[in-house]
Amino acid sequence: MQTHNLGYPRIGSDRELKKACEKYWTGKASVEELMITSKDIRHQNWITQKDLGIDWIPSNDFSYYDQVLDMSLMVGAIPKRYNQVILDKSNTELDLYFAMARGYQKEGIDIKAMEMTKWFDTNYHYIVPEFENNQKFSLFSTKVIDEYLEAKKAGIKTKPVIVGPVSYLLLGKEKEENFNKLDLIKDILPVYLEILHKLKKEGVEWVQFDEPFLALDLDAKAKETYQYAYKEIHKQFPYINKILTTYFDGLKDNLHLAFSLPVQALHVDLARCPEQLDEILGNIPEKLLLSLGIVDGRNIWKNDFDKSLKLIHKAISKIGEDRIMIAPSCSLLHSPVDLELETDTEALSTEIKNWLAFAKQKIDEVVTLKRLAENENTPELQKKLQENKNAATSRKTSTLIHNEKVKEKIRNIEKVEDKRHSVFSQRKKKQAKSLQLPLFTTTTIGSFPQTSEVRSWRSKLKKRLITPLEYEELIKKEIEKAIRFQEKIGIDVLVHGEFERNDMVEYFGEQLEGVAFSKNGWVQSYGSRCVKPPIIYGDVFRPNSMTVKWSSYAQSLTKKHVKGMLTGPVTILQWSFVRDDQPRKETCFQIALAIREEVLDLERAGIKVIQIDEPAIREGLPLRKKDWKIYLEWAIKAFRIASCGVKDQTQIHTHMCYSEFNDIIQNIADMDADVITIECSKSDMKLLNIFSEFKYPNDIGPGVYDIHSPRIPSKKEMVSLLQKAIKSIPVEQLWINPDCGLKTRGWEETEKALIEMVSAAIELREQC
Ligand code: GLN
Ligand code: ZN
Repeated sequence: MQTHNLGYPRIGSDRELKKACEKYWTGKASVEELMITSKDIRHQNWITQKDLGIDWIPSNDFSYYDQVLDMSLMVGAIPKRYNQVILDKSNTELDLYFAMARGYQKEGIDIKAMEMTKWFDTNYHYIVPEFENNQKFSLFSTKVIDEYLEAKKAGIKTKPVIVGPVSYLLLGKEKEENFNKLDLIKDILPVYLEILHKLKKEGVEWVQFDEPFLALDLDAKAKETYQYAYKEIHKQFPYINKILTTYFDGLKDNLHLAFSLPVQALHVDLARCPEQLDEILGNIPEKLLLSLGIVDGRNIWKNDFDKSLKLIHKAISKIGEDRIMIAPSCSLLHSPVDLELETDTEALSTEIKNWLAFAKQKIDEVVTLKRLAENENTPELQKKLQENKNAATSRKTSTLIHNEKVKEKIRNIEKVEDKRHSVFSQRKKKQAKSLQLPLFTTTTIGSFPQTSEVRSWRSKLKKRLITPLEYEELIKKEIEKAIRFQEKIGIDVLVHGEFERNDMVEYFGEQLEGVAFSKNGWVQSYGSRCVKPPIIYGDVFRPNSMTVKWSSYAQSLTKKHVKGMLTGPVTILQWSFVRDDQPRKETCFQIALAIREEVLDLERAGIKVIQIDEPAIREGLPLRKKDWKIYLEWAIKAFRIASCGVKDQTQIHTHMCYSEFNDIIQNIADMDADVITIECSKSDMKLLNIFSEFKYPNDIGPGVYDIHSPRIPSKKEMVSLLQKAIKSIPVEQLWINPDCGLKTRGWEETEKALIEMVSAAIELREQC
C-alpha cells in the first residue's frame, strides 16, 4: 500500500508567504527575499511530509497566489491587456503574474486584475482563466518543472500536481461569444504534453491531474472532452503514472466515465462521500489503482480510525493491498498547518484540542492508517490506535458539546416567525418615510481599512499591553474618524467601519458559545489573505449582545443613519469548521437564532438599518444540482429566522459577493431583504441581468467598483456602469456602493475612490 498527499498548505506555519508577498508588493522587500521565503516554505513542507513517512509527496502545490493562475501562466493564457506589463523589461515573470492577480497601475498604465471566484464549495478563491475565440496556448512558465527539480535536488522525488486540462478549461470563462471553451482542448493539450515530456526527461514517475469536475454534473460534451484528453495524454506518455484526483463529492453518475479514462490511479473522496466505495469496488477496472481519500482535508476533526479502517479493509478484501493508496480526501490547502503550534489552552482547551487534527497531523493519520491497515503491530502503533479511540469517545460524551436549552429551541424552530409583517412594497413606503433617503442612496458594505495600527491594538489587548477600556477608547476614536470621514465625503447611509473585528466570522464566533478558536489555524482564502475559521464544536448560543455597543456608539455621533452590521448564519456556518456529529442545518439554525436575538437588540437600541451579510449562501450550494433544493430550503429559512423579527420600518440589508444568481434568483428573492448589495463591477453589470429578467422586486446595490485591487476607479467609469444598471433596473430600486467591504484597502485609496463614487451618484441624480 502506498500513501500520498494531494497538496500541503503553502502559506507557511507562521503565514510567512503572506508576509513576504505583502512586503514585496509594497516595495519593502526585494524579489530575492520573496524567493528565499517561498523556497524555505517548499522545502519545509517536503521535509515535514518526508519525515512523517508519506510515499508520494506533492510538488507544484506551492503557489505565490493561486494554483489556477499558475496554470494560466504555464499554458500562456495571458489576456492581451497585460502585454504592456510584458513589454516593460523591468518587470519579471512574477510581476506579470501579480499584475494578473491584482491589477497593475504604474506610470499612467492602468490594467484591471483578472476575475476571482470561489473554488467549488470552499472558501478558497481562484483566478478565473480568460479565453477568447482564437485562444492560443504555448508553454510560458515552467514552474511545475522547476519545482520538481528543486525537490529532486533536495533529495525528494515528488509527484508534480497540475490542474487537469478539462477542469482547467471548465474553470475558465469565455470572454467572447460564439465558441465553447471545451473546444480549446485541442489547442491546450500540446502544452500539457510538452510539460509531461519535460517532466519525463527529468525522471518523473507520478503526475497528479486534479480533475474535481469529475465529481460534478457533466454534460455530454464535457464527458467526450475527458475521454479525448486522457486518451491523447496516455497515447503519448503511457508510462508516466497518472493519478486522476476527484474530490468534494462522489463520482456518482460519472463513475464509469472516470473508469474509462486511461490512467494508472484514481483518487476518490471518501470523507465527503464514503457511500460511493461499494459501487467503486464493484466496478473498478482491473489494474487501476484506487486512492482512498479517507482523511478529511477540509475539516479539523481527528480521523476516526475504526471507521476508516473498516473502509480500507473492505477495499483490501476486494482489490488487494497493492492496488490501494491512502491519502487525505483533497489538498490540505484547506486545512490549517499544524496543531502542535496551538499551545494556548485558554484559546483552545486541551479537551477540544484532543479532538482535532491540522494538516501535519492529517499526514500522520494517513501514514498511521496505512500501517494499521497493513497489520503492523508495534506498541507505538497500538498506543496511537488507543489514543484515537479515546479521543472519539471523549468527543461523543463531552459535556462541553450538549446544551439542552438550545436543543429545545431547535425542536421548536417551526414556531419562530420567519416572515416580515408586511410585503416589501408596503415596507418600502414605511421605510421611505422614516429613513428619508435620496434616490441612488450611497453606502458602503461595512468595513473600512483595517490598518496595521488598528490590528496592533487588538494584538496589544490580547497580550494585555493595553486594558480593555483603553482598547475600547481607541476603537471608538477610529469609529468617530470613520463617521466624520463618511459625513465629509457625503455618503448617505453610514457604517461604523468594523474596526473591532479581526474578521467578519471570527468576531462573531468569539462571542458565541459552542465555538472555539485556534491561535494560528490560518487557511488561505485568496492570495495573501488568510482566515482563521472558528471551530464550531458544540451547541451554539449567544450569551451577550455582540455588536450593539459599537453600532450605538457610531449612531450617537451622527444624524445620518448608521447600518448595524452582522454576519449571517449561513456564512458563519460556511466559513467555520463545522461539527460533523449533527446535520449542518441544525447548526445553522442554532446560529440563526443567535443572530436574530442580535438583530432585535440592535433594533431596540435605535438602529434602523441592519445588514446581515450572507456572501457564502451561493458557495454553500451543493456541487450536484439535485442536492440544491434541500440546502436552499434550510439556508434561506436560516436567513429569514435571523432577519424577520423586526418591524416593517427597520430596513434589512444583505450583502453577497460573487453573485451569479442565475439559478437561484427565486431563492434570493425569498430571502426578502429590503436591500441586497452584490459584487458586480467586474462583470460589467452583467450580473444584474437576471434581476431584471426576474423582475426582482426589492432594492439592489450593484457594486460599482472592485475592492480587491488598489486601483482607483474613476467617476466616469462608475457612471457608465450605472447607466448600464439603469437599463435593466428601475432607478428607484438602485443603491450605489462598492463591490464589498474596504478592510483590505488603505485610507488614501479608499477616500479617493469613495469621493469618485459619491460624485457618480450626484451626476446620476442630475441625469434622472
Ligand atoms: N461587511 C463585510 C465587510 O464589509 C462584508 C464582507 C464580505 O462580504 N466578504 O467587510
Ligand atoms: Zn462581499
